[in-house]
Amino acid sequence: MKIKHFYFPILFCLVINIILLANVTVSLPVFASENDARIVDLYGHLQVKGNQIVSQKGDSVALRGMSLFWSQWIGKYYNYDCIKWLRDDWRCTVVRAAMAVESGGYLTNPAAELAKVKTVIDACIDLGVYVIVDWHDHHAHNHQAEAITFFKQMATLYGDKPNLIYEIYNEPEQVSWANVVKPYSEAVVAEIRSIDPDNIIIVGTPTWSQDVDVAAANPLNFENLAYALHFYAASHKQSLRNKATTALNRGIAIFVSEYGTCEYTGTGIIDYVELGTWSDFMDAHKLSWCNWSIADKNETSAALKSGASATGNWSSSDLSESGAWVREKIIAWNEPVLTSVQKSKRSNDNLKFNTIQNYPNPFNATTQFQFYIASPQRVTLDIYNILGERITSLLAKDMQTGLHQVSFNSNDWPSGTYFYRYETENMTTFKGMQLIK
Ligand code: MG
Repeated sequence: MKIKHFYFPILFCLVINIILLANVTVSLPVFASENDARIVDLYGHLQVKGNQIVSQKGDSVALRGMSLFWSQWIGKYYNYDCIKWLRDDWRCTVVRAAMAVESGGYLTNPAAELAKVKTVIDACIDLGVYVIVDWHDHHAHNHQAEAITFFKQMATLYGDKPNLIYEIYNEPEQVSWANVVKPYSEAVVAEIRSIDPDNIIIVGTPTWSQDVDVAAANPLNFENLAYALHFYAASHKQSLRNKATTALNRGIAIFVSEYGTCEYTGTGIIDYVELGTWSDFMDAHKLSWCNWSIADKNETSAALKSGASATGNWSSSDLSESGAWVREKIIAWNEPVLTSVQKSKRSNDNLKFNTIQNYPNPFNATTQFQFYIASPQRVTLDIYNILGERITSLLAKDMQTGLHQVSFNSNDWPSGTYFYRYETENMTTFKGMQLIK
């Protein structure tokens, strides 16, 4: 501990001298990462208007990201560091938690599966990413009571957060929309809406979430619903795109909550020609999507090679052929919007708090500090000597919007270089000054 304290002033002086030599003001945002673009700050609470998903302000938006794998089989990627890597390196704006229901999933181990899902949701909320909580089931209409219990819990815990998107039935098989899937969906949606009036709910459609045209002809009577369209590029082609077009023309919103680059089994070839056509189609219609899947299983659709770390930090050699292709797509499509979030965050921070160099400077005994704040917030202003020791605190209080001035009298302080440090909600700013007697 003593060593740490001994080095701190030296390190501090080095940093400060670099700042002085460069004659610049250094602003250190609280969020240090250049990649820290919180898409939720830009889009807010999503809504559905007509056949589009729109932001809180009403602009059409498309989210692009990754689905995790069945939680009971490859749950190791359900952790904070992995989600952060997907945000920062893959530039995902949405992550899908595919909570297994059957086959050793939630029906068998509800506490364990719930914990995994909550970990992912909490991470996404912290990181400003949208999150789909997916009832990953092919027979959900047989588990309606359990689904309602689960989603009521989700709505109670997270229904007020803009991040959360519900997906209530991953892939119904070849069962009736009107007699099976729709009644199930109405029951589950009504229970969610009794707690959470507004977050988007994705409704599964028959034939492994392909019959969006059928659902569109007989939709549910609730607000903010989207319908799931799933495709695997080497198996599902123009005829499925035609069904999607029919559905959109009938006025429902579609969310591609799962797609694969290969055959519907998750294996086989990657069909780059169809992927290109599907990509253009989704882009043209502003469809949100998640690729299947973050897994290190030995199958084509798995984005990772066997043994890829559970906590991200993957090199290119950790990515499968499919994973590398999808990562590039996500980056290419999301980067422009994420860059705009970063720019606007930086300019907001700068607008929120502006300092003016103390005047006069150099000064003989007395000098004035001025700063402007655009919203009420707590401001502290401290003065340090060349050793990095805090000499005095001039300010530590909640301040109102506007221009503020603080006078300072150095009294009997010796001549030399001093530093002052402002700290606000979002910014820490150092500046230097010279006292000359
Ligand atoms: Mg809500």
